[in-house]
Order: sequence, then structure tokens, then C-alpha cells
Amino acid sequence: MKIRTRFAPSPTGFMHIGNLRTALYAYLFAKHNDGDFLLRIEDTDQERYVEGAVDLIYRTLAAAGIVPDESPANPGDCGPYIQSERKAIYAEYAHKLVELGGAYYCFCSKERLESLTDENGNRKYDKHCLHLPKEEIARRLAAGEPYVIRQNIPTEGISSYEDMVFGTISVDCKDLEDNILLKSDGMPTYNFANVVDDHLMRISHVIRGTEYLSSTPKYNLIYKSFGWEPPRYMHLPPIMKDAQRKLSKRYGDANFEDFIAKGYLPEAIVNYIALLGWSPGDNKEKFSLAELIERFSVEGLGRSGSIFDEEKMRWLNGQYIRELTKERFEELAKPFFDKSKIANKYDYKKFTALLQPRVETLGEIPAKVAFLAEYTPDFDLNLYTNKKNKTDATLAKTVIGISLRLLENCGDFDINVLHEQFSAEAEARNIKKGAFLWCFRIAITGQEVTPGGAFEMADILGKEECLSRLRSQLSRLA
Ligand code: GLU
Repeated sequence: MKIRTRFAPSPTGFMHIGNLRTALYAYLFAKHNDGDFLLRIEDTDQERYVEGAVDLIYRTLAAAGIVPDESPANPGDCGPYIQSERKAIYAEYAHKLVELGGAYYCFCSKERLESLTDENGNRKYDKHCLHLPKEEIARRLAAGEPYVIRQNIPTEGISSYEDMVFGTISVDCKDLEDNILLKSDGMPTYNFANVVDDHLMRISHVIRGTEYLSSTPKYNLIYKSFGWEPPRYMHLPPIMKDAQRKLSKRYGDANFEDFIAKGYLPEAIVNYIALLGWSPGDNKEKFSLAELIERFSVEGLGRSGSIFDEEKMRWLNGQYIRELTKERFEELAKPFFDKSKIANKYDYKKFTALLQPRVETLGEIPAKVAFLAEYTPDFDLNLYTNKKNKTDATLAKTVIGISLRLLENCGDFDINVLHEQFSAEAEARNIKKGAFLWCFRIAITGQEVTPGGAFEMADILGKEECLSRLRSQLSRLA
């Protein structure tokens, strides 16, 4: 049997890191086994529908490199792949299930249902309509009375299944309720749609979050009533924010696109989340998508929630940034550079060699280059004092004097040539090179920490700006 998995998001306007991980695992499992991966849009809850949400799902999967073999945009032979377009299918199967005895029509009013609430606020449907005479049902249906279709759960017995991650999961049928499968507007509930669709779409393995772990026996009863073979299941523990809390959109910290906006690379995010709940069995941490496909295994899936560690993802992202080609880095860094205070003032390409080894996310770029715009000549003179290099303002004055002279006479502003001249001059004057460079760098940047060394900074600033900054410093120290 061909392995077929699916990702079945509800279009809520937002792709959570947890959703993406579910999609990724379903994709990896399918591809590892030469199977198909499907995308199905679960939009039966029209109230939650958000404009543009489906596009966001496509965009996110595409950015992550997860390509569905079948989807609304690329349908196979079991479409439509959007649940709201499958209404007629659900109605047909719901009525069939009634005939098979696995479900029944229910005409109960809201008031009657409310009256079933016990003193603890719990409500369980009492199967009232299951016992209506056939003729009465036919009459009420013919009269166009509104109805729902409910699952007819056996009153006794155990329903259980083997989850591939969690092992045996059982529930006692008497603890289950006759849930609504088809609503009065003809829309299915998740309880029903997931079963009908997974069956008709020939899904062999259902991979989804643990929130469905304990309701799966109930879904399996529907498969049983239809005489269908249920799929195998892998339920995935949640991704945690810390030991107690799940990562969720409520904390605003888990959105894929927010991470992209912060300058994370999709391949680094994918790599990181692949390891949140799955272990390759060794210490390897960096995996391309192709490697993940090759290595993915059910045995590596864990049962406990993994804590999302942004620092770790940031570190991994830094590794990916270092590996980009120069051209690709330039292209990806550009929008971030454009947000900086110095956009349009400096030639951005001069920064890329400097920044690529120094940032872990592209979002750090504006802060890294801000010093160029933030130069104030009257910075604290104590900056010239550096214990390690044994520098102070007096030495700085000498260094600035020499640097000015060298720069004024340099002709071409060639950093390599200047570097040699500076070194020779420092040696001739018995000034340690480190001390010389410290004073020079402080003079032209006014910052203790800069994203690059003295000459890299000078190169970015250009000759005129260096000269003007050195002059202003010389007059301060005079
Ligand atoms: N639409 C459901 C969700 O987004 C899918 C659950 C499933 O994969 O069956 O949670």
C-alpha cells in the first residue's frame, strides 16, 4: 500500500511553528517512504475563516521547501481538497452512516439540550432521538424540520488503537458522547470530516497533534461503522514555551512569518523544528531537507513536549548564514540593510563581507551598522583609555595626528596600502600596533565595540568621512 500522509490546517490566518512541524513530519514520513504528501484545507468552521489565510499556508510551505503532491492548487484524483467544497460528499456519507446504524438524526431543540446539563455544568446527550420511530423521523424530515446527525456511540465496550508514538490508547465507550457529525447547515464537524476525508483520500498515516490523541478511538468507531480500515496514527506532543506553557499564538512568539521578519532563514527554521520532537539518534544537528527525508524515522519521535529554544535556533541560523554564497547573502541582507539608519548613505555592498560572519540573524543588521549614523564627535574621552592596549587620550592625540597626515597624503584610498603605512609608522614610533588601531578606530567610530576592525570601518566610512572625524577629534584633544 502506498504511504500517503496529509497536512490539514484550518485557515486561521497564521502558521504556527507547531503547525509547520506537523506538516514537516507528515512530509518527511511520506517522502522517506516514497509516498505522497497531501494538503487539505479544513475550513468548515466558517466563523474562524480569515481572508488570505490559504495563501499564507501555501507561502509558508513553499518557503519551507515542503511541496505537496496533491493540494487545492495541484489536485490529484480525490478532490476537492478544500472541505467547504465537499459538503455534498459529507451529506452523502452522513446519510449512509445513518442507514448503517452508526449515526442518527437528531431534532432536539436548544432548550431541550440545555435542560440536559447536570449540576456540575456537564452535558451529555441522552440518545433521545435514536429511539424515535422510523415514521416520525421520515415525517419530520419531509416537513423540512432542522436536524443534525449524531454519532451513535455504543453504550458499552472499549475502543482502542495503537498509536505509533504513544502506544495503546483506549477509551471506554460509556465515557463518550454522541457528538454531532453533520450540523443543521449541512456542514460537517471535524469529528466527521477528518474520517471521511482521510478515508476517501486514501491516507495511510495520520500525523497530527496530541490534542486528537484521545478522540481518535471515537473516530475509529466511525471507520468501523462504515466497514473501513482506519489509518495508522502518529500523534505529536506539543512544542513548549517552557516547562508549563505550550508555544502558542497567544504569546505572539510562534509565528513562522515573524521569524522570517526577524531575519531567520526558512531552512534554518525547518532544520531547528525538525529536531523539536524527533531525534536522529546521534549528535548531528545540521540537516538539509534532503538529509531529513533520508534520516526521518518513527523511532526517533518522542512522547514529551520539547521546549522551543530561540537561542539555539539563532545559533543554527548563524551557521546557515555563514554558508550562504556572497551573492545570496547580499540579496537576503538588502531589505534589512534598507531598514537601517544608514540606508542610501553608504554603499551597502561594502558591508556584506563584514556582516556575514558576524550576524546570527539578518535582523541584527540595522543595529550592527547603526554606529555609522550615530557618530557624535563629543563622545566620552575615556573611550580612548584601554587597559589591554595601554592607550589613553594623550596617545590618541599622537595617533590621530599621524593618521591624519597619512590619510591626507594617501592619494588612492586603498585600505591595504594604508594598513601597511600605519603599521610602519607605528613601528617607527614604537607604538604597539594594537594601541595604534584602538585609538584610530575609536576616533573614527566613537564606539567601543564595532562590527569590524579599524580598517574595515575606515573602508566603509570612506576617506572624506574619516578625515572629518579625525579632525574633529584632534581639535577636542588639543
Ligand atoms: N484542522 C485540524 C487542525 O488544524 C487538523 C487536525 C488533523 O490533522 O487531523 O488542528
